[in-house]
Amino acid sequence: MGARSQHLRRLANESFDVLVIGGGATGSGIALEAATRGLKVALVERYDFGSGTSSRSTKLVHGGVRYLEQAVRYAERSQFQLVREALKERATLLANARHLARPLPLLTPIYGALELPYYFTGLKLYDMLAGRANLRRSRLVNRDRALERFPMLRHEGLHGAVEYHDGQFDDARMNVALVLTAAEHGATVLNYAVVEELVKLDGRVRGAVVRDDLAEAYAGQERYEVRADVVINATGPFVDAVRRLDDPDAPDILKTSSGIHVVLPGRFSPPDTGLLIPRTEDGRVLFLLPWLGHTLVGTTDNAAPVEADPQASSADVAYILRHVRHYFDLPVAENDVLSAWSGLRPLVQPEGLAAAQHGGSRAAAAGSTSRLSRDHTVLVSESGLVTITGGKWTTYRKMAEDAVEVAIAEGGLAPSGPSVTASLPLVGAAGYVAGGEEALAERYGLDPDVARHLHHAYGDRAPQVAALAQGGLGARLVEGLPYLEAEVRYAREVEFAQTSDDVLERRTRLAFLDRLAAETARGRVEELLERVP
Ligand code: FAD
Repeated sequence: MGARSQHLRRLANESFDVLVIGGGATGSGIALEAATRGLKVALVERYDFGSGTSSRSTKLVHGGVRYLEQAVRYAERSQFQLVREALKERATLLANARHLARPLPLLTPIYGALELPYYFTGLKLYDMLAGRANLRRSRLVNRDRALERFPMLRHEGLHGAVEYHDGQFDDARMNVALVLTAAEHGATVLNYAVVEELVKLDGRVRGAVVRDDLAEAYAGQERYEVRADVVINATGPFVDAVRRLDDPDAPDILKTSSGIHVVLPGRFSPPDTGLLIPRTEDGRVLFLLPWLGHTLVGTTDNAAPVEADPQASSADVAYILRHVRHYFDLPVAENDVLSAWSGLRPLVQPEGLAAAQHGGSRAAAAGSTSRLSRDHTVLVSESGLVTITGGKWTTYRKMAEDAVEVAIAEGGLAPSGPSVTASLPLVGAAGYVAGGEEALAERYGLDPDVARHLHHAYGDRAPQVAALAQGGLGARLVEGLPYLEAEVRYAREVEFAQTSDDVLERRTRLAFLDRLAAETARGRVEELLERVP
């Protein structure tokens, strides 16, 4: 039955200080934050952990060069503050998930002479705001050197480039690392568990009715009433739907827009440098990044309805390819596209927020100044439902800290101490040693590409996966890619994977990298999942 059944039993039989709805970056971060402050916490996710926006990001750990531009343009102190805070969190994330995240040099090509001082000064300011958390100094790169680093850059009119650094990570594996770390600290965590109703006592939200979508497989009951002193709504693009379980008249606070990414073969980017076009001719950001041996290109930003599994349309893919052809000397064709996906950005609207406050909700002030100047918002309804949304992956930890502070105040909870997550290594990070893949390969007789993949994806837990491989599950799921049968077993037994999609999309990233390859592997993955006792 894997790791899930014990958690289900606890969810059904115990009551909690905090119930978190939504197992994306925000909710999983909150579960970890609450558990490490000694609170009894349960986390429920209606599909798989990270299956929403949190596995569909650009995978950059960043302060937000775009926010910085706005800060300069409108001389907004709060925006500077926001970038500074995100840059601090960037360093924290890179330190606490060392196996999954690392610095990535990015080039911004310069085509107009006037752009050069503009971008150079801007990126120097980015370094300055990072202060001690800076990764490496930004610098000017001349035309020849830029072309050497990124031969596919459009030659015509190129003056040079500015090089700066941000972080890059594996978002879905980071999400599962958060869940596993929370569970190791005592959190009860359950995927395929849907909140259908909120439970109220004397007008206060005091829990939820949770439907177990795998009841049949687990031979259990379908619905559980879960009691908690505080309920936190961390459902990303879905926060308004959950707010309406509390108050059917609650006005929307979000507008969502969709971001599309396209994956191309690795030959479309150098293996160690990304590229950022800060402003396309229609005012968007375009990234071309090396990622897990492939090339990730994104992204669009279109108003979009809230839906559980948004899809990239052929028009979206055509839009991205058109821009790639425009900015790069790359003869890219539609059949180079290995995969494309869409994610929804939860953006808080000031008007929606004002209407919610008018209706009795409070923008929570967890012992500090206005949360509204931030990128993220914490809102408390009249009946005590805490909602948190907005922000970005990079700032998930700070968001979690803020949400838990608010929950403590709302529920009169007694934490064991202050927040410790800023210096808490996530599962896989504590014993991770950079360069350890060679020793892993030697000890378990692995191919170099497989050892590198296991070392980065599992960190100090890689030997556990390698041992499964050595014990008879060492075959690759697909020829030419480093994913092993052993990972399916590990995903099911340790990482809460339930379905072949969980394995193919989020425990490995096979389906994000190459849809056809993932379909080839699906039958074998299903077979292996069924065989787990
Ligand atoms: P989600 O990940 O969507 O999680 C919410 C979860 O709630 C979902 O899994 C959903 O299934 C669950 N849920 C909903 N209703 C219920 C219910 N009734 N019961 C139980 N569960 C429920 N940030 C960065 O820092 N760097 C980037 O490079 C970056 N790139 C991005 C690119 C794109 C295209 C987009 C859209 C965003 C990007 N972001 C980036 C932002 C970042 O991805 C999001 O801020 C973050 O993932 C949001 O996490 P979340 O947990 O709030 O939402």
